[in-house]
Amino acid sequence: MATPTLAYDIDASRPAQRELDVRVRFAGVTADEVEFFLPVWTPGSYLVREHARHLSRVVALEPSSGRELRCVKSTKNRFRIARDGADAIELRYRVYAHELSVRTCDLDPGHAFWNHTGVLLWPLGHESLAATIRVTHPPQWSLHCSLPAGSHALAASGPGEAVVRADDLDQALDAPVLLTAGPRLAFEFDGVPHGIVLDGLGTISPPDSLVDDLKAIVAQAAAVFGSNLPYANYLFLAMFADEGYGGIEHRDSSVLLMPRTSLTTARGYRDFLALAAHELFHAWNVKRLRPRELWRYDYERENYTRLLWLMEGWTAYYDDLLVARAGLMSHQDYLDAMAKNVQGMRTAPGRFELSLEESSFDAWLRLYRPDENTRNSSQNYYGNGAVAALCLDLAIRRASSGRHSLDDVLRHLWQHTFEQDRGYVLADVEEAVRTLAGEAETELLHAMVQGPLDPPLADLLQDVGANLNSEDLGRPFLGITFKAGTTIAASVIRGSPAFDAGFAPADELLAVQDLRVTASNWRTVLDAVARIGEPLDVLVARRGVIVGLTVTPSAGPGTAHIALDESAGPQELAARRAWLGAN
Ligand SMILES: [Zn+2]
Repeated sequence: MATPTLAYDIDASRPAQRELDVRVRFAGVTADEVEFFLPVWTPGSYLVREHARHLSRVVALEPSSGRELRCVKSTKNRFRIARDGADAIELRYRVYAHELSVRTCDLDPGHAFWNHTGVLLWPLGHESLAATIRVTHPPQWSLHCSLPAGSHALAASGPGEAVVRADDLDQALDAPVLLTAGPRLAFEFDGVPHGIVLDGLGTISPPDSLVDDLKAIVAQAAAVFGSNLPYANYLFLAMFADEGYGGIEHRDSSVLLMPRTSLTTARGYRDFLALAAHELFHAWNVKRLRPRELWRYDYERENYTRLLWLMEGWTAYYDDLLVARAGLMSHQDYLDAMAKNVQGMRTAPGRFELSLEESSFDAWLRLYRPDENTRNSSQNYYGNGAVAALCLDLAIRRASSGRHSLDDVLRHLWQHTFEQDRGYVLADVEEAVRTLAGEAETELLHAMVQGPLDPPLADLLQDVGANLNSEDLGRPFLGITFKAGTTIAASVIRGSPAFDAGFAPADELLAVQDLRVTASNWRTVLDAVARIGEPLDVLVARRGVIVGLTVTPSAGPGTAHIALDESAGPQELAARRAWLGAN
């Protein structure tokens, strides 16, 4: 019996049409029927995206004769082909690709980017089969992908063509493709080649220090895990556009999307480095060290885990931390970034409704589908997970008199689970914390991830000579946010004066104390007339009817600020340097 072979041809040479033409040739097959499937989600982004809705005109034929084979759509993302004696099956279809995000596909005359989760119809039951992927494209572009080049016999015949090879389905789906005329910069760390491709910058030049800065970040990430780099090569695929922001991790690469002008400001560049650090850190935490339930992905349905607070929250904690430790961010800037997370946590009462574990489990329903009630009903396991990670880190440092930290927990987990070829469960994390710190810290972890999140941050920050306080305390506070450019309520914070007064999302505020309010004068008018404890008359349009409401402002919670303590002693300063680096 011949070994089956699988080969894809992806034609990206018609970018103006925003469509990829795909051919799959599956040969050496003996079964009478073969079912092909397309993933419904892209690992790293926990939402069923239904990639199959972008497929058109899926047809099957026998390549040697051109005879058409019966092709029936069997589920939303599967196609069943009757082989009918054919020696091979060829599938042909088009993929509409016009959604620029890190987890989708985008083809236009400026570039092509795709995730194979949205492109490769794969024969079911043949997930361990190797595949070649030949790409045809406009000659001015180069192909960038972490997959190795195809074998010599299949090598590209010239510009406008490239061939890569995947060992199996997992490897193919974990390697997005970027085709661009943009530059590729290269560097080595520890003898391992790294590259960064810059797409869409136009006439903007990247900072001269980019490669050195990335190298410093790689060094800091490697230092956390204290082992050799886990990959043989690594590629950052960085796309820049007029808007959009995001990143997604892969085993040997990552995709970054940021506004084109980010690299031109100090703040924007720092955010870019933090995003790169975040996705790089995932090469350890998530792509290799990962929960047992995600050890093997099921590409056709939701994959539930209660551990996204570790997968994403801890990574969100380490992203800025790596940048700070690399000396690319001052200690105060680092604390300012963390204060933003603290503020986000404090102003979203959903942390008392749904735990970090429950929010992780519900990622598919909530985090990727935010609505007007999200902040009241759920919590963000990125920002809140980062605050919890900070508390756990400081608590471990305190309990071990500075001998251990969260770095050691990750290293312990790495050695005891990933290096043992298995995924971790919560008990593994607890065991690591218990071993390195003690029972009280294990209980703190428990309380933070399973209960209402209210961590003892102010107390712990004193160990590193930092003070958590609030600015603008006592400003009249209503607890209402508006849709951009309007006075239409986007959300009303549970338990706030506006909530108690009966305001609801979609209410349009027209006047306060008989003074007309608009998006541009709202703050000024409120400051002029609002007093803490004194009722305000507010005119609201609700479903086309004018309604009068009375709200009594309270003293606002203020804005969280973490300040370096100028009077910190040598012990606190040493602890701070051990935590954030020397600068
Ligand atoms: Zn992440």
